[in-house]
Amino acid sequence: MQPGTARPGDAVVVTVRGAEDSPTGTLGDRELRFWPIPGGHQAIAAVDVEAKADPLGLEVQLPGGENADDLQVEGTLEVAEAHFPERALTVAARYVTPPPSVKKWIAEDQKAFTRAMAQPPGPRLFTANFDWPVQSMLTAGFGDLRLLNGRKQSQHFGTDLDGVTGDPVFASNDGAVVLSRECYTSGNTVLVFHGAGLYTAYFHLSKREVKTGEKVARGQRLGRVGATGRVTGPHLHFGVKVEGHWADPESLLRLDFE
Ligand SMILES: [Zn+2]
Repeated sequence: MQPGTARPGDAVVVTVRGAEDSPTGTLGDRELRFWPIPGGHQAIAAVDVEAKADPLGLEVQLPGGENADDLQVEGTLEVAEAHFPERALTVAARYVTPPPSVKKWIAEDQKAFTRAMAQPPGPRLFTANFDWPVQSMLTAGFGDLRLLNGRKQSQHFGTDLDGVTGDPVFASNDGAVVLSRECYTSGNTVLVFHGAGLYTAYFHLSKREVKTGEKVARGQRLGRVGATGRVTGPHLHFGVKVEGHWADPESLLRLDFE
């Protein structure tokens, strides 16, 4: 299991070697889905962002095959306390109280996200580790608790990377574009599916340079940094979704898949 100690919202990878058939298991109360990798099976999961600083139980069942009993393996993931700083931000009022004229747009964005992130299950589409989509300074981390314009509370489910409008944005890893769309809140948005229940998200682009359905390689250009949607200025919001849960992108980049 990587890592040995995680924080709430971290991505975790569980690798099983030597089992012929696919294992099953749980991490805390979350089901693990294993996919074949060379020499074994692997599951990618995320620790609940609301998790307390208590150890999480790992249970993995290994099917024994025709002439053997099933095996159960147990482990523990230490969970450290979350440190989510509180920040006050000011954005255009129309992003805190959207006018009635954009209600339909926002509803269609939500439908498009749901559809894009319901890809049929399958093994991972990548072999290398994940990389930053832009090489720049991190300006806001995952989990920040935000107060927008002094009234709307929200939590930041991604990592903000500093940038200048027009800077290139690259795919964090191999995958397929499952959404390329102008959204109200996230602005020009690209979502990439990497298999194994894993997605990366690129928000607020000034320009999208890939189409839905397109296969992309790690390091391939997806678009350009911008300031579209709910922003305080030009930057890239980089998001990671693991099995239906937003996870800390920094934690995914620390995992060794190679
Ligand atoms: Zn952000």
